[in-house]
Amino acid sequence: MSIVANYELTEQEKQHLEKIMKRVHEKTKEGILNGKGPFYAEIYDKDGNFVLGTSNSVMEDNCCVKHAEMNAVMAACANYKNFDLSSYDLSLYVNAEPCIMCLGGIMWSGIKNVYFGVPSGDVERITGFDEGFKPHWFEEFKNRGIKVAGNILLEEGSEVLDYYVKSGRHVYKPER
Ligand SMILES: [Zn+2]
Repeated sequence: MSIVANYELTEQEKQHLEKIMKRVHEKTKEGILNGKGPFYAEIYDKDGNFVLGTSNSVMEDNCCVKHAEMNAVMAACANYKNFDLSSYDLSLYVNAEPCIMCLGGIMWSGIKNVYFGVPSGDVERITGFDEGFKPHWFEEFKNRGIKVAGNILLEEGSEVLDYYVKSGRHVYKPER
């Protein structure tokens, strides 16, 4: 499946996104093998340098908001010693589409570019995790000057999520 985006992507840019997402999917699997959750995010600066990477740590930290993206946002704020990251033109890469909470967290962080692998519908189908309802966020983010591209190396990313489920790991969900 091809990449979906809220802006025009060049062929060169697509290749760059795939190069980084390949690493993100590999690191997600590595995290799973080390007992982490099946979601992993990385932050890159405006020159394309790696800044940091974080896994989901909800179960490890007994904290429901510690999704990979939220951990990345918190670590980036600590790294730059700034609650507003908008002046750094940062990019966030994550193996799966951000959930409703993380969309909010990313929006308030000032991160300017969001790239994800597996879209929420596929995440829910493969894992059973609940991603929450989604507003028209590609459009909403565009209106706020945030670039979004998704479905990057979707097949590779789906295989990693599938591996998590088949290895019998816990899929947590609040009671409703
Ligand atoms: Zn999330």
